[in-house]
Amino acid sequence: MYLVLIGPPGSGKGTQAKRMAEELGFVHLSTGDILREAVREGTPLGLEAKKYMEEGRLVPDEVVIGIVREKLRSPECEKGVVFDGFPRTISQAEALDRILEELGRRLDRVVEVEVSEEEVLRRLTGRRTCRNCGAMYHVFFEPPKVEGVCDKCGGPLYQREDDKEDVIKERLRVYRKDTEPLISYYEKKGVLVKVKGEGPIEEVKQRLLEAIGVRR
Ligand code: AMP
Repeated sequence: MYLVLIGPPGSGKGTQAKRMAEELGFVHLSTGDILREAVREGTPLGLEAKKYMEEGRLVPDEVVIGIVREKLRSPECEKGVVFDGFPRTISQAEALDRILEELGRRLDRVVEVEVSEEEVLRRLTGRRTCRNCGAMYHVFFEPPKVEGVCDKCGGPLYQREDDKEDVIKERLRVYRKDTEPLISYYEKKGVLVKVKGEGPIEEVKQRLLEAIGVRR
């Protein structure tokens, strides 16, 4: 099964995509995670992506499409994939259709995770990320056991440059302009379902599993 989660930054799609992939035994494919890792490691991809990410802008389509094409070749993706943060533009969506077609696959479901803008701001300003392993926390909703320290690896937690208020505003503007049009693109294809993204993490996950027909 190939699934896409679409939603504004802070809609919780990253958290949910990760949990759904774990539960279903699928690959969690987050272009944001791949790019952040490349930035941490200082690879040529990371050096190119850094400036866009810090300003809340989108990394060029061809770069991101190349990452996804490469990743989808790996046999572990055959079981299923939960895409998170990709596609983000119509041209990425068209490229994904082409790549899947080449592999003899198609997209089964696209889920729009709906969250109000007020809630998005509340969530993003409290988000903290581990500098070492990339694990995510929230100062109110999912605090680590020890403040500022990652539960999983003991690494230091930090606030992502792109989770600061002015960058968040830019990311929301980019979402409305470039990514929201994907909703009608997928609606027309008949694969879109909408799920309310507010409420406890576990509840939202159950709603998502229902929406994709895995649980009733
Ligand atoms: P995310 O973790 O999905 O919020 O992504 C963080 C940042 O990585 C975004 O603000 C973009 O700069 C970049 N990025 C992630 N995914 C994509 C994508 N599909 N297309 C372009 N840029 C992306």
